[in-house]
Amino acid sequence: MKIKSVDVIPLQIPFEDGSTGSGLMPTKWTTLEIVLVRIETENGIVGWGDGFAYSCRRAVAAAIEDMVAPLLVGREIDDIAALNLELQQRLHLHGRYGITMFAISAIDIALWDIAAKHEETSLARLLAVRPRTSLPAYASLMRYAEPDLVRSFAAKAVAEGYKTVKLHEISLDAIKAGRQGAGTETKLATDVNCNWSIEQAHEIMPHMRRLDLYWVEEPVFPPDDAEALGMLQAEYGVAIASGENACTSVEFARTAPHIKYLQPSVTKVGGVSEFLRVCDVAEGYGASVMPHAPYFGPGYWATIQLTAAREICEQFEHLYIEPEAYLDPSIPLPSGGEVEVLDRPGIGFEPDPDIIERFKI
Ligand SMILES: [Mg+2]
Repeated sequence: MKIKSVDVIPLQIPFEDGSTGSGLMPTKWTTLEIVLVRIETENGIVGWGDGFAYSCRRAVAAAIEDMVAPLLVGREIDDIAALNLELQQRLHLHGRYGITMFAISAIDIALWDIAAKHEETSLARLLAVRPRTSLPAYASLMRYAEPDLVRSFAAKAVAEGYKTVKLHEISLDAIKAGRQGAGTETKLATDVNCNWSIEQAHEIMPHMRRLDLYWVEEPVFPPDDAEALGMLQAEYGVAIASGENACTSVEFARTAPHIKYLQPSVTKVGGVSEFLRVCDVAEGYGASVMPHAPYFGPGYWATIQLTAAREICEQFEHLYIEPEAYLDPSIPLPSGGEVEVLDRPGIGFEPDPDIIERFKI
């Protein structure tokens, strides 16, 4: 089974989320930017993938077209994990993190999609004998900053059946409001996106324990300072989660001995192949995996399949926003705090050509 073509389709899909759009990304965040990859084999199987593309859409598209695709066309698809490592080695002069790995991630997801379709099975069934058919999903709220808004969005998510809610709040007042809105029965986490100094972390972490937080995510900068993260977890007895911006299992092997939750993002870490290696690393160190939500393109679908296949993945992250459209309108969205694992060939993603046409740029 040889690769016949690699095509790149950049898209922008606006979304609504009830926030000001500030605080989570380097610029105001109001659209989903997706770099879709379509790989076709000589025998006519089509695989889909995407690489993280927020504010770097053109760079990721160029990396796939100029750096990765020339190494792939005409190649036999057999051992995808080995091919992934070969790509990493041949492209390591461009850096082992960021754009290069986003490009490799997109390709790798599409190749695994093809591999499962070739076997006429789902990716979850390709990877596991008895994958889960439904997954606990948590509501990953945006950053609202205003305590009243935080309280009402947390309460709304709980009313919809979510048993776990994650805030993206960084002030104690907003996090307290999140706990009030979510109630004491709901598991509550907060994602700090590296905003606290170590001094602020020491001040606020005792409150995170008092508020019974499930985990605190990326509390300080840099997020790869494994010792600092491990120290906060040990000193305050609250689980620390990190890794959505880490690439390859090599980086996770450094943090795994120190923190409870590893958070690979399939569209950043190096695709399905590296995500699976991160699960192996977590198992080796007794850590757990809390995958990062790769938004609503093929990465979303791949993450559901991977979480279903690997028990070590605890919950599925659902970003609490409403996109103007979903590329594949049959996307499984959480209901009652659970998301269904569709049993379709590959990762399950089959985009609607009209929606691609409408949002491609
Ligand atoms: Mg996060």
